[in-house]
Amino acid sequence: MSSAVRIHWAITPAIAPQPLINCNRCGGVKAYRCSGKFRVNANGKRIDVWLIYRCVDCDNSWNFGIFERCNRRDIEPALLQALESNDPGLARRHAFDIVALRNRVGRVEEFADVAVRKRLLGDTRESPAILELRLGLEMPTSLRLDRLLANELGISRSRLQALEERRLLVIDPDGAKALRKPARQGMTIRVDLAGEPDHEAIISAAGG
Ligand SMILES: [Zn+2]
Repeated sequence: MSSAVRIHWAITPAIAPQPLINCNRCGGVKAYRCSGKFRVNANGKRIDVWLIYRCVDCDNSWNFGIFERCNRRDIEPALLQALESNDPGLARRHAFDIVALRNRVGRVEEFADVAVRKRLLGDTRESPAILELRLGLEMPTSLRLDRLLANELGISRSRLQALEERRLLVIDPDGAKALRKPARQGMTIRVDLAGEPDHEAIISAAGG
């Protein structure tokens, strides 16, 4: 029996969603890119906080409301400090809050580009031929599982499909057409590559 290599893929989206806004400077609908900067406006007890977006063409700004007419006492000092110092993690969380953005703008462009950090789990035996991938998603992605696997493993989507049809590729949790649906947090993909002549290259691409 072939031995397995287990690898964790930490998947983070690379590009924040971009709201499509009628730019009053360009005079047309344009994508706006998150600047990563907050604007905090304190007026007595009242605080407004926005995340600043800029038109990709003319740099015109648009404010995405994070807190509006909020009482100063309702914002933790540590949070206020993070907002005032443009904490990158906090800006990122708001920039990827697709639901809040959609509520505000209606049309938002999403990107499927991701960065994948690969980490070997446990010991590797010599020349493993079974690949077990565990997916960890920082946040939901619209990237299809077959595209993710094809990009990262360097094999075609039709070959992935063929492996799945022969039950050499098994997805857990399984579902109808799981390969064609977005990759999800906690998914495990097990691929038996024993019969594939290039299994070493595939496992190496996977991070093994
Ligand atoms: Zn513009």
